[in-house]
Amino acid sequence: MNPFDQAQTMLQEIQEANLSSSESAEEFRIKFIGSKGSLKSLFAAIKDIPNERKKEFGQLVNQIKQEAEAKITAAKKNASGANKNKASDNDLTAPGVPYEMGTRHPLSLVKNEMIEIFKRLGFVVEDGPEIEDDWHNFTALNLPENHPARDMQDTFYIDYEANKLLRTHTSSAQIRVMEKQKPPIRIITPGRVYRNETISARAHCTFHQVEGLYIDKDVSFADLKQTLYYFAKEMFNSDNIRMRPSYFPFTEPSAEIDISCFICDSKGCAVCKHSGWVEIGGCGMVDPAVLTNAGIDPEEYSGFAFGMGIERVAMLKYGINDIRLFFENDKRFLEQFS
Ligand SMILES: [Zn+2]
Repeated sequence: MNPFDQAQTMLQEIQEANLSSSESAEEFRIKFIGSKGSLKSLFAAIKDIPNERKKEFGQLVNQIKQEAEAKITAAKKNASGANKNKASDNDLTAPGVPYEMGTRHPLSLVKNEMIEIFKRLGFVVEDGPEIEDDWHNFTALNLPENHPARDMQDTFYIDYEANKLLRTHTSSAQIRVMEKQKPPIRIITPGRVYRNETISARAHCTFHQVEGLYIDKDVSFADLKQTLYYFAKEMFNSDNIRMRPSYFPFTEPSAEIDISCFICDSKGCAVCKHSGWVEIGGCGMVDPAVLTNAGIDPEEYSGFAFGMGIERVAMLKYGINDIRLFFENDKRFLEQFS
């Protein structure tokens, strides 16, 4: 067979080949364009073609090569497309990829527990704005302008002229409730507060409080003490509380609340500084001036208020010695509370 007839036969064979499987495509590749394939022999035959027909033959051989390669490319494309739809590629018995579950923040855990305890005593949760005005944050709470006790709470002013500040305590929410609701009032106001303080292991510029307020006829200091005793028992399983005289502008008399150290059973340890007592917050009987400011008659009603830092309670409960850990979002810390 002369090389021209040989080439024509090969071209026809290539055009008619059916490469429906990847096996047949591979066979085709080896037969025609592999290192020992038929195309090789055609290229080798070029040197024996008379000069005047060399060009014609060369073009024919190139056409054969291009058609063969196009055929293989198309076959490969088909094969990979078909594979994608094959169910056998998905291993239904393979174990699933687990979802990473988040954990509740320790402050949320403690806050929720505090809310649950006070709910059992009939307290309801109230909320207030974090951006406050001077009246609700200071003046109504018996802290008129230029009152020296304002210095006890270094304040972030958003706009001094426009009377906008970040609340320094959740007591402002209590004023708002007293203004709109007639006694009896029995509320707690958990929330975030802000103070312009240097951040250290023991202080932060933002922290959380749970404050409580109870106003009714004949509310006494004994009611206050019993409420806090119940809380200490439920939260810390502490069997005793004591009150030390203190000063807050909005309560009279005022006291700091200590609970017997639940870590060492009052025998003395580092947490209670070997005193057997741990401070958890402040409290007192609502100052009559505050009741008057909120439109409640102090001759008819009396009440008590208390406040605790959620961070403080969480640090005691979990033995955490640095308040900054709560705000650093370190997974190694947070995952311990799952
Ligand atoms: Zn102790």
